[in-house]
Amino acid sequence: MSRVYNFCSGPAALPEAVLAKAQAELLDWHGKGVSVMEMSHRSDEFVSILVSAKARLARLMNIPDDYEIVFTQGGASASFAQIPANLTSGFDSACYLDTGAWSTKALKEASKYTNVIVSGSSKDVNYTTVPDFSSLVLDETAAYLHLTPNETIGGLEFDALPETDLPIVADLSSTILSRQVDVSKYGMIYAGAQKNVGPAGVVINIIRKDLLARSDNDSLPTVWSYENLAKNDSMINTPPTFAIYLADLVFEWLEGQGGVSAIEQINIEKAALLYGTIDNSTFYSNPIDVRYRSRMNVPFILADESLEKTFLAESEAAGLKTLAGHRSVGGMRASIYNAMPKAGVEALVDFMLAFEKRYG
Ligand code: PMP
Repeated sequence: MSRVYNFCSGPAALPEAVLAKAQAELLDWHGKGVSVMEMSHRSDEFVSILVSAKARLARLMNIPDDYEIVFTQGGASASFAQIPANLTSGFDSACYLDTGAWSTKALKEASKYTNVIVSGSSKDVNYTTVPDFSSLVLDETAAYLHLTPNETIGGLEFDALPETDLPIVADLSSTILSRQVDVSKYGMIYAGAQKNVGPAGVVINIIRKDLLARSDNDSLPTVWSYENLAKNDSMINTPPTFAIYLADLVFEWLEGQGGVSAIEQINIEKAALLYGTIDNSTFYSNPIDVRYRSRMNVPFILADESLEKTFLAESEAAGLKTLAGHRSVGGMRASIYNAMPKAGVEALVDFMLAFEKRYG
């Protein structure tokens, strides 16, 4: 068996120790003679996994008591609809900040449910920066303000929040657990699992309890109501049990690494190494305003675009996998989530320098 360094944006690399533990427990979980995949979701065994996953996540993110952790399905894309469906009843509008491909998708989906106010957009500069917060159009009677603090495709990240009394709803799909966040500043945080949490199939939602009362259970699909989900411990119906189990193993691994503050330091170092290599060359470049460069997703292009295919073929042959940019933008993108060891980024940087020597 040989494992490569996998720079896929998602589903992304998982910590090897987690995969090994899941493998060891696959046929016989904790002496029960069955796999987690084969257990009733109502069994004591699975309930203990769910309770553990929630407790570990609450510890890792310092989630205050007035928040519920809810697991949903359908990916973060389903949440683009589920959020306005739950949170806008009784309101006329919702505010959205437009900073790239994923926030655009979120606001388009929301416009099926409510009047979307685009509070600010950096579309005119090809989403290379974040709109100045002092210029945002915020309707304080709106249901919430939605943000995408890490744009996975564009490689743009920001952690400051606008001044507002609106509940802030944030899509942390590609940055959750990579850096410290003050959960108390958010009305709701949500994240698809398949980058920093586990396999695809489960979405993590952290919802301030007062917002649950907004779910209109008479009109919402039963399994979509955040209030119902919270009341039923994310088990109105069968949850994605194996994905939740793996998320629990990833949380356990992250605790063993020293938690979010420790992994954040490593993430800062990994990103500095890669951006430093890009900035020190005229061969590679990254278009994002340096203040808002993503630590998780690092897009870059070659000065000579005709070398792209060669770069991708040779990097793949060198054991550096999935470095192609998103199909909508091309170029290259290295996704360096928590599970990417620093050695992986060092190997990429060595490859980039050698490639530049050969072709530059
Ligand atoms: N939001 C962000 C920031 C993402 O990166 C992605 C997926 N790459 C999504 C939403 C959509 O996630 P899913 O495919 O799970 O619906």
